[in-house]
Amino acid sequence: MAKINRNYLKLPGSYLFSRIGQKVAQYQKDHPEAEIIRLGIGDVTRPIAPAVIDALNKAVEEMGNEATFKGYAPDLGYEFLRKAIAENDFASRGCDISPDEIFVSDGAKCDCGNIQEIFGLDNVIAVCDPVYPVYVDSNVMAGRTGEFDPQADRYKGVIYMPCKEENGFAPELPSEVPDLIYLCFPNNPTGAVITKEKLQKFVDYANEHGSIILYDAAYEAYISEPDIPHSIYECDGAKKSAIEFRSFSKTAGFTGLRLGFTVVPKELEADGEKLWPLWARRHGTKYNGAPYIIQRAGEAIYTEEGKAQVKEQIGYYMWNAKYIHDGLKEAGYQVSGGVNAPYIWLKTPNDMTSWEFFDTLLDRANVVGTPGSGFGPGGEHFFRLTGFGSKENTIKAVDRIKQCKI
Ligand code: PLP
Repeated sequence: MAKINRNYLKLPGSYLFSRIGQKVAQYQKDHPEAEIIRLGIGDVTRPIAPAVIDALNKAVEEMGNEATFKGYAPDLGYEFLRKAIAENDFASRGCDISPDEIFVSDGAKCDCGNIQEIFGLDNVIAVCDPVYPVYVDSNVMAGRTGEFDPQADRYKGVIYMPCKEENGFAPELPSEVPDLIYLCFPNNPTGAVITKEKLQKFVDYANEHGSIILYDAAYEAYISEPDIPHSIYECDGAKKSAIEFRSFSKTAGFTGLRLGFTVVPKELEADGEKLWPLWARRHGTKYNGAPYIIQRAGEAIYTEEGKAQVKEQIGYYMWNAKYIHDGLKEAGYQVSGGVNAPYIWLKTPNDMTSWEFFDTLLDRANVVGTPGSGFGPGGEHFFRLTGFGSKENTIKAVDRIKQCKI
């Protein structure tokens, strides 16, 4: 008789976005005249940059021509792309990452979720609270956690690192020593960043205790302040203790095209074994590569033209983020984020729960955001807004929020 992976039954179900959807649909039904603005979205809205579209078209033409047709991609990804990444994302910031340490994939979500496979089930993980749910859920599915405790809104056997106002939403070193440490900066959902000094402390800690840091830098392109690390490899010794994930999704609007990569340094070891061959084996066995045309499209963001166009797109979203941040601050709200990330993290007024604030904002301003509690108990009494909407809607939404001060 077939048996299921019973670890899946530990997952309480992801109600966040379906509950938001249901509430908005109900509100719209009850108030058909309401013009609802969604500022909760975590997806990009601007069209793909022209330089990327040109590269895409050219690659499509190549696929229709016998002389230039491409079949399966090389296991690690095409060298033209890995070279462009190594040069532009790492060498330019003083990080010594070779093209052979870069594994091209179809996005950071899969890589963040799959990486745990190369580690034993007896590893203890540490995550930030609040957190992007993929890190926790993928470990639950694998059986690396205990049961979900609905009272605490947490899994047993997981180390949670609180990210609060007091620590600038960047965690302190964990009190118990974890084997795997998930960090994400710039952060979703808080929009916070980590200083190089603090990140260095994590790297030193991991090297001292033999832990591995799994560093998600999906929002790296949004960093605007000069001293914030773009890559964990800017820290000394990080090649001995860290894997980094990157995504083209928010950097260049590839959420629909799909492209990302993972860096596994050749010298990185755990348990006396190198991790590079394990991830290479996993990648080669279970994955057949991002499409050639998409890898060519990705290469185009590193051309002069592509760089300028992508920068303009990010500038568009960050203009919105600043408008939301400044507008809400002016209206008396306590806000953070929005400077090095497209996310604004708002403290709910009058000790309202995240969901109470959601309902009130929907009702009074017809604006939709994301309740912070959906990202873990540390997100309770917070609310996430994003700069990914249109400029017009962002302005309208902020004006409405200001007028209906809650
Ligand atoms: N990592 C974080 C922190 C994210 O917020 C997201 C998407 O929202 C991803 C990874 C997923 O990236 P991708 O689209 O490359 O799968």
